[in-house]
Amino acid sequence: MSTIFDDIESEVQSYARAFPIVFNRAKGSWLYDEQGKDYLDFLAGAGTLNYGHNNEHLKAALLEYIQEDGITHGLDLHTTAKQKFLHAFNDKVLKPRNLNYMVQFTGPTGTNAVEAALKIARNVKGRSNIIAFTNGFHGVSLGAMAATGNSHHRDAAGIALTGVTHVPFDGYMNQDIDSIVLLKAMIEDTSSGLDKPAGVIVETIQGEGGLNVARKEWLQELEKLCRKHDMLLIVDDIQAGCGRSGRFFSFEESGIKPDIVTLSKSLSGYGLPFAVTLIKPEYDTWKPGEHNGTFRGNNHAFITAAKALEHYWSDDKFQNEVQMKIRQLSTRLQRIAKNYDAKLMTAKGRGFMQGIEFKSGELANRICREAFTRGLIIETSGSEGQVVKCLCPLTITPEELDQGLTILEQSIAAVLLVELSVAS
Ligand code: PLP
Repeated sequence: MSTIFDDIESEVQSYARAFPIVFNRAKGSWLYDEQGKDYLDFLAGAGTLNYGHNNEHLKAALLEYIQEDGITHGLDLHTTAKQKFLHAFNDKVLKPRNLNYMVQFTGPTGTNAVEAALKIARNVKGRSNIIAFTNGFHGVSLGAMAATGNSHHRDAAGIALTGVTHVPFDGYMNQDIDSIVLLKAMIEDTSSGLDKPAGVIVETIQGEGGLNVARKEWLQELEKLCRKHDMLLIVDDIQAGCGRSGRFFSFEESGIKPDIVTLSKSLSGYGLPFAVTLIKPEYDTWKPGEHNGTFRGNNHAFITAAKALEHYWSDDKFQNEVQMKIRQLSTRLQRIAKNYDAKLMTAKGRGFMQGIEFKSGELANRICREAFTRGLIIETSGSEGQVVKCLCPLTITPEELDQGLTILEQSIAAVLLVELSVAS
């Protein structure tokens, strides 16, 4: 029997195809379908629910705000809710890290924040070319998509995607080829064909691109290159930020200080649409209203974001707990992968962005489908969808994390047993 989703929802659906049921409730690390079956959520809104579904602390703050008829939609007006967010962001995130940024409220999705970042870099430097990296993912609006590597998305543009040069990410071929040396040579060779870039956009851990990790030395060299050649360094922390790497910003361990940072996904902490572009004060050269948008004032998101920062980032407790669970995740994934030939699978990633790379996207996909039948929501990433990615809420309990990883381990074993018996 066809459903209303089959009848009138566009073919563009993606996650819904992998999990073809109707969900109706969610709490913490769990999703529930209409039949009441529970699923551990290792997708977490593609990294949007770092504090879990319907987090009690955030929910209470939001309900209280709504009850008092607090402003919902505020354009870019100054409101009490925005004031709260800016105070919390300044006090809990920027000041303790000795970071000095102006906060630009962009349209509420990640791709909006990336568009603003690219625009400001180009306008500040008066050049159009931007360096982006192989397997980078920055969104699907035209400017951000020009910086995105994936041909599945690029092919849908219907127009030339210009103004970006892609170069190899760290370890693209192997760790012996230093792609910063290559980029440096191309910039310094006046005959390389590379137009002098205004800036560089990079993810420190490529989420959609397959959990590829930039080494901290590589990031440091990239920063040096930007300084030497007058290019702005943009870190796209939309997926790896807000604690997912184990620290608030994913670049903290490397010690680099990007000129521009994009944040979205888990910034509201509650799954409410919200994005910002952080700009070093000297580059905040926008004229009033030059980069506009009706939905730059999601005040509900300001309330939950402020609460999340106050509750989880006032001291190191949450961060330390997250790092313990990251170690648990690494150890377990390494152990699972070690049971098999390295040609078949390897564990990879950093922080709470880890997973297992399989020899093919087809195999990774079958494992995710098997996991779903066993009550685990988990998805793939990478150019061929070959990487199974654990993107659990950071608030997951160690027991739930273990439970999900056991389902993953059993799913791998079940799928490989079928594969091996077919082969023999
Ligand atoms: N940048 C990164 C690193 C992302 O992972 C994503 C989404 O996955 C985006 C940008 C685009 O964000 P959105 O889908 O909210 O437009």
